[in-house]
Amino acid sequence: MLLPDRCSIKEKGKDCVNPPEFVISVVETNDEYMVGVTCKNHKDRISEKLVILQQAGKIPQGKIKFSELKAVGTDCVRSDPDDLIQL
Ligand SMILES: [Zn+2]
Repeated sequence: MLLPDRCSIKEKGKDCVNPPEFVISVVETNDEYMVGVTCKNHKDRISEKLVILQQAGKIPQGKIKFSELKAVGTDCVRSDPDDLIQL
């Protein structure tokens, strides 16, 4: 499974072109759901946005986790590179 090679954030209609540094996931009791990847610049803003998405029921409830990309294995990762997160 390939990870996107760019940050999953879209800001003001433009895709972020930075390389991803963190994998964003939502941790539930027995499951971990990958939301996307983010660069360092967007890390704080995306965590605020994810809370809003959780309140709106767009992504699973649970603890939002950021993992440094280099530390992440590939087998538990699900992703859709076209599924960008609009800030
Ligand atoms: Zn970014």
